[in-house]
Amino acid sequence: MVDSIYRRYSSLTSKTFMRLVFLGPPGIGKGTQAKMFSKKFDIPHFSTGDILRSEIEQKSSLGLKAESIINSGHLVSDDIMLNIMEKRLQQDDVKTGYILDGFPRTILQAEGLDKINKRLQQRLDAVIALDGDEETTIKRISSRRSCRNCGAITNIHIDSIKEEGKCNHCGGELYQRDDDKPEIIRKRWLVYQNQTEPLINYYRNKSLLLKVSGIGTIKEVTNSILLELE
Ligand code: AMP
Repeated sequence: MVDSIYRRYSSLTSKTFMRLVFLGPPGIGKGTQAKMFSKKFDIPHFSTGDILRSEIEQKSSLGLKAESIINSGHLVSDDIMLNIMEKRLQQDDVKTGYILDGFPRTILQAEGLDKINKRLQQRLDAVIALDGDEETTIKRISSRRSCRNCGAITNIHIDSIKEEGKCNHCGGELYQRDDDKPEIIRKRWLVYQNQTEPLINYYRNKSLLLKVSGIGTIKEVTNSILLELE
């Protein structure tokens, strides 16, 4: 189904846009859309949330530092995040492009990303800002479950699950993230409004911003993003 949407936009290829940022409030579907675009256009995608969760799983020193911050709905420090990204963006697999999901999240991170790109003699092609209201996204997140094994996201009210509590893709255990509980989601929304929303103007001023509604089915949102990119 989604394939037929991509066919309609056959002029778009991974060479059209190589470095994309997906921006938006919690639960708006950045991760879902970023993963689909990555697969379809064969551009590496990385989510800073996934990187941090994997550090927590491994009980690394970074993971131990980040766990309580994430579970309380706050942001991990700009220094830590910029350090992670500086290293990551120098690896070979992202030399020709990347899709960033969850980074940058503050003006300082966006300025840091600009500096990293400048040093690497590259630039962003577009920033896709997904837009939506708090109540809809809170409802959406409350029914979101993540797979412990492959990270796939399942909506328990929309997706038909083959085996209770198991991921449809790999059979791994589905769980609810601690920061996906309603009271923490509200905190994350506040943090988004105070610290991340200013990035919309930051990227608008750089003529990189594409604003797209994140409300609708996955297919509808994909369609709107493709239209904007074209
Ligand atoms: P996400 O999976 O993108 O919703 O991220 C989950 C949590 O990880 C966020 O609520 C933050 O606590 C932390 N996090 C992820 N990316 C960043 C970032 N770029 N800057 C600061 N904290 C981050």
